[in-house]
Amino acid sequence: MKEIVIPLLTWFNQNKRDLPWRGDVSPYEIYISEIMLQQTKVEAVKPYYHRFLNKASNFFMLANLEDSELYKLWEGLGYYSRAKNLKKCAQEIVNKYNGEFPKDYKDAINLPGIGMYTAGAILSRAYNEKIAAVDGNVLRVFSRLYLDDKDILKDTTKKYYKEKIEKIIPDTPGMFNEALMDLGATVCMPKIALCDICPLSSFCKAKRENLVLDYPKKKEKMEKQYLEYSMIFITDGNKYILLPKEDGVLKGLQAPILINSFLMDYEIIDEIKNKYNIDIYNVEFIKEGKHIFSHQLWNIKAYLCYSKDLLNYNSYTKDEILNTIGLPTAYKKFLPF
Ligand code: SF4
Repeated sequence: MKEIVIPLLTWFNQNKRDLPWRGDVSPYEIYISEIMLQQTKVEAVKPYYHRFLNKASNFFMLANLEDSELYKLWEGLGYYSRAKNLKKCAQEIVNKYNGEFPKDYKDAINLPGIGMYTAGAILSRAYNEKIAAVDGNVLRVFSRLYLDDKDILKDTTKKYYKEKIEKIIPDTPGMFNEALMDLGATVCMPKIALCDICPLSSFCKAKRENLVLDYPKKKEKMEKQYLEYSMIFITDGNKYILLPKEDGVLKGLQAPILINSFLMDYEIIDEIKNKYNIDIYNVEFIKEGKHIFSHQLWNIKAYLCYSKDLLNYNSYTKDEILNTIGLPTAYKKFLPF
């Protein structure tokens, strides 16, 4: 495996992507970029990254950010659990490590939202620690290089390659990890492999055997759970009720009322009266649509319901909903305005 180090680093020096979170950046900036890049593409992250750093430029500021401001900054990036963990992690770093990302791998991996890959990426780039950062890109490259049939979705496979890579990792671990990531992202891609320009092609078994797109091996993806929701915006004509979602995906975030089935107008009126004691005098259909999460597909029928009295439930004006509250896209695209 050692034979890949020099060709890979030579290629990286000439071809590395110019990304705002590379070069002379702080451990905090690396941390923010790595969390944003979990499950989100580089181009989508770029505008969020700068906007976020303008509002919270260190762990102390992030730890004290209001939830509403945090969710507003995160709005559109999806996977809101990352935003929640971001703040929890910052609070722990402030309380336990005086506002500095810990240098020890065991400490890092125990922080909220930090897994094996993220810890490796941050510690290698921020502190030059010889720790591998093994993600899907990296596993794809190695499974092709060595025609490896191991299931890349399994943790055991990630650990296997983490240990292997750490035996060959050079004195520039951050650069080496970035080089592997760039190779996976720009040359050895999932559906296209640019083997003719790949610095590792002379070592690659998949290329030699003409089996490139047969690798990596993965188990069947988990079936998405299909859910039906009536999404209900209750208004008095001025404000709209939003309540923290009680469970499941997007738990704890502000949401319109969600009822776990499609209902007729009169059933909506009954349900709202029974559960919230609110009298609805008119129901308007807004629209029907879908929202796809990684493991769930929501089929949604959205309604605007009018009531003279919103009681004491949390309610917000249109302006507050659009500009202050970080409403997840799953709800935002069904807003009645
Ligand atoms: S030669 Fe092709 S398949 Fe092999 S690592 Fe390079 S790009 Fe991937």
